[in-house]
Amino acid sequence: MTDFDRKHLWHPYTSAIDPLPAYEVVSAEGVRIRLADGRELIDGMSSWWCAIHGYNHPALNAAVTGQLDKMAHVMFGGLTHEPAVKLGRQLLALAPTGLQHVFLADSGSVSVEVAIKMALQYWFAQGRPERKRLLTIRGGYHGDTFGAMAVCDPVTGMHERFAGALPRHLFAPRPASRFGEERLPGELDDVAALLTAHRDDIAAVILEPIVQGAGGMWFYSADYLAGVAELCAEHDVLLIADEIATGFGRSGRMFACEYANVTPDILCVGKALTGGYLTLAAALATPRVARGIEADGGVLMHGPTFMANPLACAVASRSIGLLQEMDWQAKVAGIESQLHDELSAYADHPAVADVRVLGAIGVVELHEPVDVAEVQRRFVDAGVWIRPFGKLVYLMPPYVIDVQDLSRLAAAIRLALE
Ligand SMILES: *Cc1c(COP(=O)(O)O)cnc(C)c1O
Repeated sequence: MTDFDRKHLWHPYTSAIDPLPAYEVVSAEGVRIRLADGRELIDGMSSWWCAIHGYNHPALNAAVTGQLDKMAHVMFGGLTHEPAVKLGRQLLALAPTGLQHVFLADSGSVSVEVAIKMALQYWFAQGRPERKRLLTIRGGYHGDTFGAMAVCDPVTGMHERFAGALPRHLFAPRPASRFGEERLPGELDDVAALLTAHRDDIAAVILEPIVQGAGGMWFYSADYLAGVAELCAEHDVLLIADEIATGFGRSGRMFACEYANVTPDILCVGKALTGGYLTLAAALATPRVARGIEADGGVLMHGPTFMANPLACAVASRSIGLLQEMDWQAKVAGIESQLHDELSAYADHPAVADVRVLGAIGVVELHEPVDVAEVQRRFVDAGVWIRPFGKLVYLMPPYVIDVQDLSRLAAAIRLALE
């Protein structure tokens, strides 16, 4: 089986011809991933921010099978259903106040495409069709489709490989001030200067609030985020917050925007939305955006085939329910303080450039990139699932992880330093 996989199946960001090894998984339960050879790994990744409640969760399984007995899917054009309506209500109740309209999309990248379309259509309908460009900060990650890729960090997003095929947007430096600090003097000057210079062609600012994920796992000042939001208001530019990674408690708040008391015009969520069960995302918008798009009689030009898939909506709804039933703030705060204690031990190691922790995210940044295949093998031999990239070895475990398992993950990071 793994031979066919190696020869014929592409994996994320890998060669089809000479791929990195892939380990065969037969099942997963709680925070354990079971391999075909019988080994069990403690999951430190939540399958890329998603599996916040752990795997094979009875309540989430029941949500899927309960919905499956009714219908797996129906088109959303001209039809609606309870799972979508219920999820929409829950999302609006949780999201920063002011967001009132929900577009259910089938992946995070697609929700970013939809958010960008909303912003462009908004300005088109206001008689400002030239407002098509986006302003973002370096170090960002917003997905792999073309519109989303164009606002990823130009270096780590490999823009040069797609030169000419991507719209050219505007990039301000990565915020330098760390989370928990005030913003540095002059830190917003570049953003302000770009907004002024391009006042006629910027539609929106897009960024990941507080936590920049796949673009470098960087946590920046809430004061910086608040400043960007103020500048957007001042320059009459829309603000798109991409909370696909941060949403649903990962940063220590339900949404990272809350750290700066910001309500964006458009908010993207995904990843943990279904507790890691099915692909689903959403773009939430304020009435200003939704009504603005209608101004010239226009409608939002998007409608995926699997929009509002009932199975995905049902499990998302239950996952949000589970989150609200548990004391997630205490769980995430507990993970944060334990990661803080146990990862700080690496700060003085000569291979380590920086250690940072926020919410249920712990990052050890090295001076040199790791040999992923080799480090991965050592991690698997040690019974943990940690997937480094570049110079970053990081943990974002399911919220349900216990103290012993989290300690084993934190201790295993030493293997990447040697
Ligand atoms: C993962 C991610 C995306 C893309 O989501 P997909 O579901 O992989 O398309 C977009 N933005 C951020 C911040 C992400 O972490």
